[in-house]
Amino acid sequence: MNRPFNFSAGPAAMPLEVLQQAAAEMTDWNGSGMSVMEMSHRGKEFISIYEQAEADVRELLAVPAHFKILFMQGGGLAENAIVPLNLSRGETVDVVVTGSWSEKSYKEAGKYCTPHLAATGADSHFTTLPAPAQWQLSKGAQYVHICTNETIHGVEFQSLPDLKALGSDAPLVIDFSSHVLSRSIDWSKVGVAFGGAQKNIGPAGVTLVIVREDLLGHALKVCPSAFDYKTVADHGSMYNTPPTYSIYMAGLTFQWLKRQKEGQWSGVAAMAQRNIAKAKLLYDFLDNSSFYSNKVAHDCRSRMNVPFFLADASRNDAFLAGAKEAGLLQLKGHKSVGGMRASIYNAMPIEGVQALLNYMQAFERTQA
Ligand SMILES: *Cc1c(COP(=O)(O)O)cnc(C)c1O
Repeated sequence: MNRPFNFSAGPAAMPLEVLQQAAAEMTDWNGSGMSVMEMSHRGKEFISIYEQAEADVRELLAVPAHFKILFMQGGGLAENAIVPLNLSRGETVDVVVTGSWSEKSYKEAGKYCTPHLAATGADSHFTTLPAPAQWQLSKGAQYVHICTNETIHGVEFQSLPDLKALGSDAPLVIDFSSHVLSRSIDWSKVGVAFGGAQKNIGPAGVTLVIVREDLLGHALKVCPSAFDYKTVADHGSMYNTPPTYSIYMAGLTFQWLKRQKEGQWSGVAAMAQRNIAKAKLLYDFLDNSSFYSNKVAHDCRSRMNVPFFLADASRNDAFLAGAKEAGLLQLKGHKSVGGMRASIYNAMPIEGVQALLNYMQAFERTQA
């Protein structure tokens, strides 16, 4: 089956194999006579789907045993409240603002505690990351929040900060919504990681939360029970009805990821190799062009979200119309940044990036 290449920032393209398997199993999952949508979340069929998904994501991300894996609802934005509700104790927390998403985290935390702006990339219009050595971390902060991949601005941490080396004992909270499973994670530096599924995992509706065990059980009294990490963990993510179908789809993606191989690598390591190659192809092209450009500093360019601009913005509409005709969908940039954005998540093959470059070259020639 030939489908267009879909560069949506999210909800984003999913692997065709995953969609086809879901289609084949839609009305009768594994001889059960039921769609996954029609199953009790407490029945043995769904429990087996859930347990497999959890075990697979633990394996793919090499999550150590002292972290709980939770499947929650509310998306990344709800976590901006759920994290302070669980971790802040109503006190001071540090937030590093590197783009629109961490800006939202900073503002939302103010409803529950005292967020302190430890650093911001605003001066560069979020085209650089403030160096960790320059962050103004607070004494006694309950956590430090960063967004490890800023989906809108296209800025990504290439490694996680070592807070201990920076003189902070606080746990690191990472919003990994838009690059989870695209590269490995150094869990020794992480307290909590969260991400909505709709960028790199599956359909919207489920939020993956990975929490270090010692951070459970400190929620504010006002924290809704369904959002208390300890309650959710104690009930195996089934305190309330979890988003069962989204978890099933996420599980199919995890299985797909486990099958991926690239040279000596497999799983997430294989994806990381492919993502490096895809991003290099696109950034090299942009850097060698006078017709197109990307403004993000080289050391923090996202492998997943690549904003780019035509030198002449009056050609944007023609560019997008031609792209759609060429089978290249959803390339319009976020309204706050303008221009274009190519989101090249795990499900985007390098052929899709090559097709984009071919189109970009052809479009430039028609404009001469
Ligand atoms: C998409 C996104 C969010 C928001 O997710 P919702 O599911 O809409 O709440 C939060 N953070 C990042 C980094 C994102 O890319």
